[in-house]
Amino acid sequence: MTLTEDKSPVLRNGTIQDLEGRLRGELVRPGEATYEDARKVWNGSIDRSPALVARCAGVADVIAAVKFAKDNGLLLAVRGGGHSFPGLSVCDGGIVIDLSLMKGIRVDPEARTVRAQAGVLLGELDRETQEFGLAVPSGIVTHTGLSGLALGGGINWLMRKYGLAIDQLLSVDLITAEGELVKASVSENPDLFWGLRGGGGNFGIVTEFEFRLNPVGPIVLAGPVFWPIEESPNVLRFYREWIAEAPDELMTIVAHRKAPPLPFVPRELHGKLVVSVVCCYAGAVEEGERVMKPLKEFGSPVLDLCVPKPFLTHQAMFDPSFPHGWWYYLRACDVAWLTDEVIDITVDHALRIKSPLSTFVIWQLGGAVSRVGEDETAFGGRSAGHTFNIAGITESAEGFEVEREWVRNFWTALEPYHTSVYVNFLMEEGEERVRQAYGAEKYERLRALKRRLDPTNLFRLNQNIMPTT
Ligand SMILES: Cc1cc2nc3c(=O)[nH]c(=O)nc-3n(C[C@H](O)[C@H](O)[C@H](O)COP(=O)(O)OP(=O)(O)OC[C@H]3O[C@@H](n4cnc5c(N)ncnc54)[C@H](O)[C@@H]3O)c2cc1C
Repeated sequence: MTLTEDKSPVLRNGTIQDLEGRLRGELVRPGEATYEDARKVWNGSIDRSPALVARCAGVADVIAAVKFAKDNGLLLAVRGGGHSFPGLSVCDGGIVIDLSLMKGIRVDPEARTVRAQAGVLLGELDRETQEFGLAVPSGIVTHTGLSGLALGGGINWLMRKYGLAIDQLLSVDLITAEGELVKASVSENPDLFWGLRGGGGNFGIVTEFEFRLNPVGPIVLAGPVFWPIEESPNVLRFYREWIAEAPDELMTIVAHRKAPPLPFVPRELHGKLVVSVVCCYAGAVEEGERVMKPLKEFGSPVLDLCVPKPFLTHQAMFDPSFPHGWWYYLRACDVAWLTDEVIDITVDHALRIKSPLSTFVIWQLGGAVSRVGEDETAFGGRSAGHTFNIAGITESAEGFEVEREWVRNFWTALEPYHTSVYVNFLMEEGEERVRQAYGAEKYERLRALKRRLDPTNLFRLNQNIMPTT
């Protein structure tokens, strides 16, 4: 695409005013008051300047914007919640189709279903569904976008009982690269529905999701238990045996970091490296207390915040650790099991954490996630034991390179044990890594689907599946 001096795209068909006239939402251009906010994404290290941001108010706006981008050969980014780690929801030049105004949520408590539009954030969805003691298994930070998360899979606190977000997905409305509305479910366009459950934004723009709901809480036994870092090798060894017997109701995340200066953390721990096992028991609290007892009594915990609390409160627990605008560099991998070697590498690199913000979390998989067949959806890695997500974090550019180096070294040390990778935890790592996320066979099936639905790769700012030629 060519840009004029004022960064407006040189258009083949139609004009910017034509598009503006067709939008019920807003068209934002460089220099306008809302432009700086419109181009910002969650990861502060991403600094891109689109020529146009179409803030869509509804399906008609999305159709107009897709056709406009296609007819004019514009680079196209699609934004749900703006939380893509590598910032794939904003582009330089080109147009961003921003869905964040599309906030409709409708819960049907009788049918136990919910319809949610593409701009909904996880906390907004939980707020509506928890009113009825129900939930979609979604993700662990409330300001993450439902769209990008659910299209990649959606790992979450409830997944060992209710599966990934995509395992409760019933149907979607989607705008294709031709600007046409199609529906997808197990009975309507089943191939597309298969690909959408893990294949990300490759096949079109989802404007609305329909999910099955399941009972959760509203009070759950949840939260972290902390130990000093010196106990990490023993805690991890105990932990792997303990979770081997865990019921599906229990989901855990192991986190290593310097204890943050938050009000609930005793002052003497601030800035000290700690290991924590964060739990969520998606069943009766008394049952959870029984399951949690051995963990809570292991070694000498310095702080135990695993108590009964509203599920909504637990969902927001990690929010302060991952605010908008900080600089983030993340690398991820799945491993089969916490072997002694994996534990030794983990402890070694935990001890190298210098920044008060950098951290890494180890997700426990299994349960309902692993009972869905690897080929039933596009999502890859259902049989992995754990997902590592290593995050180098700074408040600004200062010190960022050092944190990136720590992340890269840690990730590389784990390389012999990698089994797969969760597609939503990839940075811009190239086609081979996308193939690894799905596995070679599924990747080829996804490429064929992509060729059918988007042969010119209009939707390419994503973990891109190259259409077969
Ligand atoms: C703080 C934080 C916490 C996270 N926690 C979790 C977690 O608990 N579980 C988990 O599974 N993942 C988690 N993730 C990863 C998350 O799933 C991805 O970053 C996801 O892409 C976020 O979706 P989004 O809509 O906010 O992103 P965006 O940046 O808006 O979009 C990401 C990608 O999806 C595409 N896309 C977005 N909306 C649509 C749409 N409606 N139709 C088609 N394509 C679309 C975009 O084009 C882009 O390629 C987390 C990320 C962050 C930053």
